[in-house]
Amino acid sequence: MSKIPYKLYLTEEEAPKAWLNIRAFMKNKPAPIINPGTHAPCTAEELSHVFCDEAVKQELNETDKYIEIPEGIRDFYKMFRPSPLVRAYNLEKLLDTPAEIYYKFEGNNTSGSHKLNSAAAQVYYAKEQGITTVTTETGAGQWGTALSMAGAFYGVKVKVYMVKGSAMQKPYRKNVMETYGASVTPSPSDTTNVGRAILKEMPDTTGSLGCAISEAVEEAVSTPNTRYLLGSVLNHVLLHQSVIGLECKTALDKYGVTPDVVIGCAGGGSNLGGLMAPFMADKLEGKSNTEFIAVEPASCPSFTRGRFAYDFGDTGKMTPLIKMYTLGSGFIPSPNHAGGLRYHGMNSVLSQLYHDGYLKAKSYEQTNVFEAAVMFARCEGTLPAPESSHAIRAAVDEALKCKETGEHKKILFGLTGTGYFDLAAYDSFNKGTMTDYIPTDADLQKGFDSLPKVD
Ligand SMILES: *Cc1c(COP(=O)(O)O)cnc(C)c1O
Repeated sequence: MSKIPYKLYLTEEEAPKAWLNIRAFMKNKPAPIINPGTHAPCTAEELSHVFCDEAVKQELNETDKYIEIPEGIRDFYKMFRPSPLVRAYNLEKLLDTPAEIYYKFEGNNTSGSHKLNSAAAQVYYAKEQGITTVTTETGAGQWGTALSMAGAFYGVKVKVYMVKGSAMQKPYRKNVMETYGASVTPSPSDTTNVGRAILKEMPDTTGSLGCAISEAVEEAVSTPNTRYLLGSVLNHVLLHQSVIGLECKTALDKYGVTPDVVIGCAGGGSNLGGLMAPFMADKLEGKSNTEFIAVEPASCPSFTRGRFAYDFGDTGKMTPLIKMYTLGSGFIPSPNHAGGLRYHGMNSVLSQLYHDGYLKAKSYEQTNVFEAAVMFARCEGTLPAPESSHAIRAAVDEALKCKETGEHKKILFGLTGTGYFDLAAYDSFNKGTMTDYIPTDADLQKGFDSLPKVD
């Protein structure tokens, strides 16, 4: 076998032509999403008022192992895919570890993250259906930017409700989205009923993701030819992100490499679900014994301290109920927490796999995460997003463990994006003013108290 290069390239022809649907490989399927009023499984008809028809079809599909990527989406993917898969020789050397470390870099597009993989697919399907406007929320801004890029490419109007506090902290994010033709409204706004109600009650609020989701959903259901798109958590988003793992598998197979450990940061679970898809499929079929690790912030510990229960997807309790590991839709992470990964729940496929022991999880405090981020930036060059740096931390710790035991493990992690819009967080880390916050059991109990009663 030839020496593994620094970048394990794939050609355009080797790029995946179908996504992989992990659910079709699972014996124990995730519980269905249900109507919060009747507790009956949601029908395609019910969901189609909010989401695009093809997204709904994919959301409910648990039988097809592979779903074709239409040519119109593959043409978009060509602009930034295949994405680089890197053997982190510099990091291995710095750590003096016998482990092999690989990372898949999804930040090489203007949105700065993997979110573009699903944005492209969702906007393509919207266009095919004759939808003229799509609405969404954005917090940190990567999803809103990705959707704006896809909207510009396919010719669909994009309306983004951006959490007001985030819009004030990251004004340049808004400029990028507007450059791609999107309209950006700081949320809560006076353009929706729910926004006006919130403003009346709390005129000075800087908003929240839950509130922005409620505004975007209200606009979608009350405007003709308009649908709402979501950037994580749901199963069709996980499906689109499987392109990440499929590219990794094709590239690694060329060199006879099977990862022993696959690591991803977990907010709503889409990048990890996508990265691990083909490797988990192998494990579920008994073909491999790869270990999978989800990494989350200690300040928002959905897996490591959450409950496995039916819960709402948003703070405004407007969405269907999803069976997932959750801190309760009423949980609000500490404002001192830097990057994303602030979502209260976790995708239902990952939740079921975690519950059944196929997936492990660990959490880190943010100063520890930023130490790894800076170490990585200095030796591998890329300035990582704070979210991605959770995966870096876990990969580094795994490699250091190998140094003690002498194991030659092959570690694959997802480098989901770049941190150019997170410089305030880097600044506070560099100045030594960044602090950690771990919620107490009593803090978490408040979130659990908001869980709906479903038996
Ligand atoms: C959105 C985002 C995440 C977390 O979302 P998942 O759905 O859990 O993947 C991680 N990293 C970056 C850079 C992001 O933009």
